Amino acid sequence: VIRCKAAVAWAAGHPLSIEEVEVAPPKAGEVRIKLVATGICRTDDHLLQGCFPNAEFPVIPGHEGAGIVESIGEGVTSVKPGDKIILLCLPQCGECSFCLNPESNFCQKSHLSEQQNLLPDKTTRFTCKGKQIHHFLWVSTFSEYTVVPECAVAKIDPAAPLDKVCLLGCGFSTGYGAAINTAQVKPGSTCAVFGLGGVGLSVVMGCKAAGASRIIAVDINKDKFAKAKELGATDCINPRDCKKPIQEVLTEMTGQGVDYSFEATGHAETMIAALASCNISTGICVMAGELDSGSEISLDPTLLLIGRTWKGTALGGWKTRDCIPRLVSSYLEKKFNLDLLITHTLPFAKVNEGFELLRAGK
Ligand code: NAD
Ligand code: ZN
Repeated sequence: VIRCKAAVAWAAGHPLSIEEVEVAPPKAGEVRIKLVATGICRTDDHLLQGCFPNAEFPVIPGHEGAGIVESIGEGVTSVKPGDKIILLCLPQCGECSFCLNPESNFCQKSHLSEQQNLLPDKTTRFTCKGKQIHHFLWVSTFSEYTVVPECAVAKIDPAAPLDKVCLLGCGFSTGYGAAINTAQVKPGSTCAVFGLGGVGLSVVMGCKAAGASRIIAVDINKDKFAKAKELGATDCINPRDCKKPIQEVLTEMTGQGVDYSFEATGHAETMIAALASCNISTGICVMAGELDSGSEISLDPTLLLIGRTWKGTALGGWKTRDCIPRLVSSYLEKKFNLDLLITHTLPFAKVNEGFELLRAGK
């Protein structure tokens, strides 16, 4: 058993508290990881607010982490102690029908079909003050050590800087893949991206990499525009500065609506606005943002009747164990600029400050 520091959420709506926890050794088929770096994604905030489906407290959040294998359980063959890895909040078991289907990346061992509050044997490896602490999406990266099933780690190039490539564990891969894989943006097309957080800015990078000729970035926080432009946005719009609804503004700007629109804010109104912003016939709208669990959207079906497509994306459509190591290699070859997504680097003890910066739009 390893004793180390972890950020525990004891109940919804409270700040994290840094505690000493015990992390049990990996059982058969599991891997224990020493975390080196973790990002903060808005999904962790949904969890802290109690809005993530099926979450249970107390829990150690975090799902965008990179580290080094510390030890392996019986039967683990794909990694060994000392390997650099990225944790996978969407695993790839390689055996379920979705893993075997080349068109899907949604492993059935993911949280919507299999509980990820506990490890597959329905026990936890974390205890604190004599209490069992839940895992989050199996990975729980807000801990100095964590234990995960082997299908939730991807071995990466040992040259990769873990404090940068940890973002490939969620935000970057989601946004970039939403453009490249889910929408399959074509060269010369027009795109609109709603929300310029880690996910939305990565969508901008994906649209640019796919050869889009116009990328319109939309956010209510104008402080996000400089970075969006640096990453490839051609126009930036604040819907609060517009006299008309944003979907009408975008339709006028482009004549008939954009070819591809992306939602990366997690709000119901923006989901509808993004859908209505892509053209009525061949437009494709990809929803990456997550609504609070239990929310619903009401929709005028004529938005879809003429042929528009409305799609969701789970981690940008990448088959995670196969593709994330390749994305790491592309990063090392400087095919995209991940470093621009990093606004602040904080020591682990300041994790609550990180959430304050996220909530403040910084
Ligand atoms: P973030 O909070 O960093 O960014 C959200 C951005 O949206 C902010 O810049 C904010 O100013 C902007 N925004 C808010 N309201 C807006 C509005 N009405 N119009 C335009 N812009 C608005 O969040 P993030 O970490 O980039 O995550 C974005 C969303 O994606 C979250 O809902 C998150 O839960 C979800 N997410 C989904 C997946 C997936 O696999 N589908 C993966 C990661 C994150
Ligand atoms: Zn995330």
